[in-house]
Amino acid sequence: MTKLHLHDGPRIIAIANQKGGVGKTTTTINLGAALAEQKKHVLLIDLDPQGNASTGLGIDQDQRELTTYDLLTGDAELAETVQKTEFPGLFVVPATTDLSSADIELIDDQNRSFLLRNALRNGRIDELGFDYILIDCPPSLNILTVNAMVAAHAIIVPLQSEFFALEGLSQLILTVRNVRQSANPELKIDGIALTMYDQRNNLSLQVEDDARQNMGDMVFKTVIPRNVRLSEAPSFAMPVLTYDSTSKGSMAYRALALEVIAKSQVKKVQHHDA
Ligand code: ATP
Ligand code: MG
Repeated sequence: MTKLHLHDGPRIIAIANQKGGVGKTTTTINLGAALAEQKKHVLLIDLDPQGNASTGLGIDQDQRELTTYDLLTGDAELAETVQKTEFPGLFVVPATTDLSSADIELIDDQNRSFLLRNALRNGRIDELGFDYILIDCPPSLNILTVNAMVAAHAIIVPLQSEFFALEGLSQLILTVRNVRQSANPELKIDGIALTMYDQRNNLSLQVEDDARQNMGDMVFKTVIPRNVRLSEAPSFAMPVLTYDSTSKGSMAYRALALEVIAKSQVKKVQHHDA
């Protein structure tokens, strides 16, 4: 019989798409909050020098003393960089502009794609008891995003329901393939999440059709609607689940969280059986 472990260590998911403004940060914050609402212990890692996820969760600039940058350079341990948010069960490692990829490129280290993996994939992480670690990637396929893909078990790709949405996807999938072949054979694409979806707009329906025909099951059943509450919440420094708990945006991210939990459980069973 398969021995069930009490805690298998966190499932690490990178939220990535090299296109800007497609909903990566919105998805990281609100999927994170929705997972925490399901009593999961969730850590968000802000891997974008813009620091939008940190700001959106109310971590002011002057509170960002130890950041993702220190984690990557090995100047700080994960436990030292983790900060509480107002949302129960949701924690964050903040980012500042230090984290420009230029700085990381300068690290004279053949292992510079492994910096985040080394910080996350070690025995000590289990002591922190996280169930999920979500990594908010910058809008680029640079060394930072590669670090996220090398560290992660899976990626989630937010896809804005607009024309050209699918264009960048092949390049992203190629990068995933390269990372699998070189550094991280177990990397999965957990799913593509359609964002800013407007069911009254033909274009949204068309992008959805295209995505489902081309990517099949890889596309989450849940679509994230265009919802003004989602865009307002960060300026109040809170997830939409706190800002407007019954909004369409909140409901959608709750549904997405249930899909994400279901997927990670299937994978755990496969892992135990293997
Ligand atoms: P970047 O590439 O710059 O990091 P991003 O991919 O992280 O951007 P977000 O910052 O999450 O994208 O979203 C871009 C803008 O769209 C933000 O102003 C955000 O509030 C808004 N937005 C995101 N998702 C939605 C949505 N479902 N409905 C309405 N507005 C949204
Ligand atoms: Mg962002």
